[in-house]
Amino acid sequence: MTPKIGVLALQGAFIEHERVLESLGARCVELRKRADLNPIDSFDGFVLPGGESTVQRKLLRELDMLEPLRDAIAQGAPVLATCAGLILLARKLERGEEVALGTLPVAVERNAYGRQLGSFQRRIKVGDCEDFNATFIRAPQIVEVSLDVRTLAVVDGKIVAVEYRNQIALAFHPELGGDSRIHQFFLARVAA
Ligand code: GLN
Repeated sequence: MTPKIGVLALQGAFIEHERVLESLGARCVELRKRADLNPIDSFDGFVLPGGESTVQRKLLRELDMLEPLRDAIAQGAPVLATCAGLILLARKLERGEEVALGTLPVAVERNAYGRQLGSFQRRIKVGDCEDFNATFIRAPQIVEVSLDVRTLAVVDGKIVAVEYRNQIALAFHPELGGDSRIHQFFLARVAA
């Protein structure tokens, strides 16, 4: 059966995720307004793309999409979140910044690499994927995790990818490096 993936398309790098997911046989539906979420149980999973998390959070709230998404994720809908998406999921943000969905029990620091290291690529190990070409763009870091969160990747001593129940969250952009293994991993979770 073709999985139906809701891709948050308010802002940021959503088209790149759609291309990868569609190349793997998924059907993507762009989520731009609340009605796009109906019926919410018709979705097999969700993608929260990178971009600017403060803008995404404001739009989600203004468009009344925060609650239905939060409920779906809290009830177990698989989600793949990258960069700004990770920030939206985090239960706690450093410097007391406002939390959006709050379903992932981690603390996140935004723009953790500062200005000089705004963007960079690294070949890293992510879970069982060796040598993954990870693109970091003004990336956050995960600075605290609760006990039941599984760390998938560490770079320079900092956690940059985690899995918690139905939620996979990455500080980097897996959709930009021409390597679809993380999306395959997500779709395998969706199918399970
Ligand atoms: N710096 C962005 C933020 O704080 C995230 C960057 C990204 O998604 N590549 O929201």
